[in-house]
Amino acid sequence: MIRPIVAYGDPVLKKEAEEVEKQHPGLLELIEDMWETMYAADGVGLAAPQVGLSLRLFVADGSPFGEGEDGDPGCRDFKRVMINPVLFDLSEEETVMEEGCLSIPGIREPVTRSVRIGVEYFDENWNLIEEQLDGLAARIVLHENDHLDGVMIPDHIAATKRQLLQGKLRDIGMGKVKVDYRMRFLKSKKRG
Ligand code: ZN
Repeated sequence: MIRPIVAYGDPVLKKEAEEVEKQHPGLLELIEDMWETMYAADGVGLAAPQVGLSLRLFVADGSPFGEGEDGDPGCRDFKRVMINPVLFDLSEEETVMEEGCLSIPGIREPVTRSVRIGVEYFDENWNLIEEQLDGLAARIVLHENDHLDGVMIPDHIAATKRQLLQGKLRDIGMGKVKVDYRMRFLKSKKRG
């Protein structure tokens, strides 16, 4: 089932999300819904707060990025469900790349992130997995993991630049934005 994606401005996106419990009712169904919702919106990642649930869980599929460039290993085979992820060993080496977010349609901003990370998480079968990621896969995980801490793209950019975005962000919050997937806006009636 496709769930509406929560738009910027909703407090659920600013909250620190709760750990997922193994017995969480309907967890597998939720994960299925998140895949469906993400693919329907042409996204490469979707975190539970973006469907209105304050839980530490996200899905990611980097295959649209293909092989990557300039020696980037790419992330064509990078498809993961990460439950209760914990990041470690973030590299000091960083890269800048423009990012978008399904909750902030129409906005793309350069975000500086570590090139390499470690991450420990549970998959949907509650296997504990630890892996090292780099390039685009690392960037997707860093972006999605941010959502679990209430952090979004505007929090990564300089205050002066964020000020320039204020009007656009307010419009998004009020649903004054064109999107071709279902969204849930805080301050106006449902659309889509
Ligand atoms: Zn996002």
